[in-house]
Amino acid sequence: MKLSKKNLQERSNQIYDVVIVGGGAGGLSAGIYLQRYRLSSLIVDKGKARSFWMQELHNYLGLPPDTPGKVLLQQGQKHYLSLDGDFLNGYVETVEDFGEAFAVKVKIGRQNSIYQVFRSKYLIVASGIIDNLPPLEDMENVFEYAGYNLHVCMVCDGYEMVDKQCGLFAGSETSITEMIFNLSWFTPYITVFTHGLFEVSQETKNQLREHGYRLVETPIKSFSGQNHQMTGVELIDGSTIQLETGLISMGSKYHNAYLQGINLDYQGNNLITDKMGRTSHPKIFAIGDLKVGLNQVVVAAGDGALAATQIWRDIRRATEPRRWTENLTVAV
Ligand SMILES: Cc1cc2nc3c(=O)[nH]c(=O)nc-3n(C[C@H](O)[C@H](O)[C@H](O)COP(=O)(O)OP(=O)(O)OC[C@H]3O[C@@H](n4cnc5c(N)ncnc54)[C@H](O)[C@@H]3O)c2cc1C
Repeated sequence: MKLSKKNLQERSNQIYDVVIVGGGAGGLSAGIYLQRYRLSSLIVDKGKARSFWMQELHNYLGLPPDTPGKVLLQQGQKHYLSLDGDFLNGYVETVEDFGEAFAVKVKIGRQNSIYQVFRSKYLIVASGIIDNLPPLEDMENVFEYAGYNLHVCMVCDGYEMVDKQCGLFAGSETSITEMIFNLSWFTPYITVFTHGLFEVSQETKNQLREHGYRLVETPIKSFSGQNHQMTGVELIDGSTIQLETGLISMGSKYHNAYLQGINLDYQGNNLITDKMGRTSHPKIFAIGDLKVGLNQVVVAAGDGALAATQIWRDIRRATEPRRWTENLTVAV
């Protein structure tokens, strides 16, 4: 059921089997599996998943390669609701672990907000990340192209950049050295932009020069183009550079503030899990972009299936098998 401010009370005394934080590709997949295992689940989602910004999902088996992320999310939510899962648009502020159950505090509504605590035996964290974008004065100008031919994911969209004039918009020297040789697999026509955010060492400058890659350290004023197709940049000194595509590599924001009170193992900012998605806490599972792994829709959806299956196994093993009572012989 789609929950709202009006029908929340019905659920306040319930202990769900699982609360899922995040209704993107991973969270929805986990929810669908949990409901089909006949477990109770609630997905809390603040909206605008990473997949929401994906204009075309090019690499998902069985879907047309121009499927927008929004369609994937709409279909996933519809599927989950058809299985009687609970879905709430809200923001998870904190999670407390009381041993027997988690208390998940959710802020509902941006204006006249109300707060509600939901309880669950297990928690799936599927709240993902969001990409940092070049910090221009006019961010609308960045949103115009980001996710179209100004990409944020090389694994997703390297194929779209083959042999094109490509701008690499880097957020640090490390992001240049990590990305540049991967990107050159797809195109050698690379111009690196630092937007004046950091110094580039002589060693990296030499490496770029040796490979013929251009380096632009002057800050960017704006992207140019039309119909969401970026065709170049204008720098603050008035000069312009023509491009056919771009890749933003400026790091990400991790949606994990609500986990602050819980001691979990991380690798960098990513949660460490076993192969079923279990974190260092036996009743917390992490799936999708938030955990160590490959940031892809197909992986997030697969992670959801694994985490849900392991939770079902845990609960089933702790439960007596059902008896076919009518078939039991009555002892005389
Ligand atoms: C522009 C773009 C293009 C991409 N293209 C592709 C592609 O072609 N192919 C591909 O496989 N992958 C692609 N990706 C990557 C893909 O979108 C992600 O790997 C995938 O969405 C990860 O799924 P997820 O469930 O982990 O996170 P998400 O889909 O990001 O879902 C997380 C959800 O949790 C919510 N949330 C966060 N914090 C809270 C909170 N505190 N309370 C409640 N909810 C919260 C978020 O709002 C979001 O709705 C692309 C990404 C972008 C940005």
